[in-house]
Amino acid sequence: ASFLPAPKGISKLSPKSPRPAVSAEGEDVLARWSDGLLYLGNVKRVDSIKQCCLVRFEDNSEFWVLRKDIHSFSSGGEEVCCICDAPPLKEPLVNCLKCRHGYHPECHTPPIDPEVDPNSWICRQCVFAVATKRGGALKRGRFARLMQIMKVRLPYQLSSLDWDLQHLTNQQQCYCYCAGPGEWNLKMLQCGSCGQWFHEACTQCLTKPLLYGDRFYQFQCSVCTNGPETVQRLPMTWVDLAHLVLYHLSLCCKRKYFDFDHEIMSFANENWESLLLGTLSDTPRQDRCQNLLNALNSHKDRFVSGKEIKKKKCLFGLQVRPTTTTTTTKMKQTLFYRNNHTTRLL
Ligand SMILES: [Zn+2]
Ligand SMILES: [Zn+2]
Ligand SMILES: [Zn+2]
Ligand SMILES: [Zn+2]
Repeated sequence: ASFLPAPKGISKLSPKSPRPAVSAEGEDVLARWSDGLLYLGNVKRVDSIKQCCLVRFEDNSEFWVLRKDIHSFSSGGEEVCCICDAPPLKEPLVNCLKCRHGYHPECHTPPIDPEVDPNSWICRQCVFAVATKRGGALKRGRFARLMQIMKVRLPYQLSSLDWDLQHLTNQQQCYCYCAGPGEWNLKMLQCGSCGQWFHEACTQCLTKPLLYGDRFYQFQCSVCTNGPETVQRLPMTWVDLAHLVLYHLSLCCKRKYFDFDHEIMSFANENWESLLLGTLSDTPRQDRCQNLLNALNSHKDRFVSGKEIKKKKCLFGLQVRPTTTTTTTKMKQTLFYRNNHTTRLL
């Protein structure tokens, strides 16, 4: 079995972070992956010390998943709150219409409005399960609106996370509005105000899908704006474009060198509109080639040509190859499972 990065410091999460009921071996669960989406799986082993479970997914891959990222279908029928494990206080728990889990109004994020109709209320987990999508969350309809309201508050304490020096990863593996795991360079946006990273699947502001490692956005999360997210494309140069395309291709294809005409140029041309190139976007097709080639050949600090390693000179790669800790292939393999568990949840 493969491992997600070793879980550390999970006890540092605030008591308000999701702490679902103990999963049992053999139980079917939804597990949040580093793309922010939930996937159907079955619990094979439980490690109560490290607070994680070995989950087998529908493609037969097995990964250790933190408890915080596992959601069980069964509410167990117990009369306890699924966040704090305590029984109701004066008032009864509010039950989610979809998953039937019970919540103390104050334990849910945001707290449940006392005016809400308890027979049609839907919890944060279920709103996210329906609204999150590859390429960007729903923008219209009831679930989009509910999600927007919930996103103004985080279900964890941002200040309690332990970050690396570059503020790319934290020890708790807690990112985004969903508190799920994440990989900063696998389709995530960083908020310019709070520094947290957000999954493409959980954002509602993008007009085009993200490329891997695309940091040419100025983004503000819903917590920081106290409303809808804001996003702006930063101005792009030919060197930026060359870097972005090579970075994306390296992560997608897991190799270092790419053919200029057949891979680099053809990828750029095919995705020209979605690359949102600003002033470069009007460049006629026949001129793009020379500009990109110049960029690749004139920045030896960033790019290596095949010529330098006695390979073909039409090959180019990045000096520093990007890396990730989780596998990107898993995400491709599980692409279609998304539909399965959504139907199951509904
Ligand atoms: Zn509670
Ligand atoms: Zn629910
Ligand atoms: Zn997310
Ligand atoms: Zn923010």
